[in-house]
Amino acid sequence: MSEPRGSAGGMANDRREAAEAIQAAGTDESLWAAWGGWDRWGEVAVPEGPVVVLAAHPDDEVLGFGGTIGRLTAADKQVHVVTVTDGEGSHPGSRQMPPPVLARARRAELADALDVLGVDGHRRHRLGVADTGVDKDEADVGARVEKVLRNSGATLCVAPWSGDLHSDHEAVGRAARAAATAVGIELWQYPVWMWHWAVPEDPRVPWRSFHRLPLAPEELARKGAALRCFRTQIAPLVDHASVVLPPEELAHHQRPFETVIVETESA
Ligand SMILES: [Zn+2]
Repeated sequence: MSEPRGSAGGMANDRREAAEAIQAAGTDESLWAAWGGWDRWGEVAVPEGPVVVLAAHPDDEVLGFGGTIGRLTAADKQVHVVTVTDGEGSHPGSRQMPPPVLARARRAELADALDVLGVDGHRRHRLGVADTGVDKDEADVGARVEKVLRNSGATLCVAPWSGDLHSDHEAVGRAARAAATAVGIELWQYPVWMWHWAVPEDPRVPWRSFHRLPLAPEELARKGAALRCFRTQIAPLVDHASVVLPPEELAHHQRPFETVIVETESA
């Protein structure tokens, strides 16, 4: 997911509020579990053809869509993963893991996770954009994603939600929308930070566009094994005691289903 930081410019106040919402204590998974709102959501089926899954940082794709990735590769479906940044901004100020070291570590963690999920090596795409700076390269990211969509023959693009309140997630979501629209294919968006900052029935969230993808126990177990590959995110560093993805955060992403936002005319 990576730590958010405010950025300069006209959106500074919005960014500060977004960063504060993400850094504040999150909504406990027990509140979501007691809600029952997701019982109202329909299920969606993945269309025929290759799927391209985007991540702003290494781990987003597994948090939001990893169970489904594993299900699709097990069915011999072509799944491409596009990693926009290396996530080198997740531990600012760490001497144990300065950004270049962290970038290498997170690329290795992602490789392990994608091995677990059965994503072929030649279907992994790294864009190498600066962490927390995707919005500055949004048009370029959109063009590069469009190229992957066209070259892969994708029929579906899956991306972080453009309303997730993390600037990188939002920029990747917008770039994905532009690319998917240009190619004329469907776009699904998965929330990551939303489960942290939102509450059940939250008016900031387009609940009517939400759909579920159920996971079988073995698919959920495989997702769990992939999540455990992100060692720098799920455990403290020697000089960085706060964990990016503590158990209470991971709990939002270990339900027996995954969630996508499918924008339609009527929603
Ligand atoms: Zn992220």
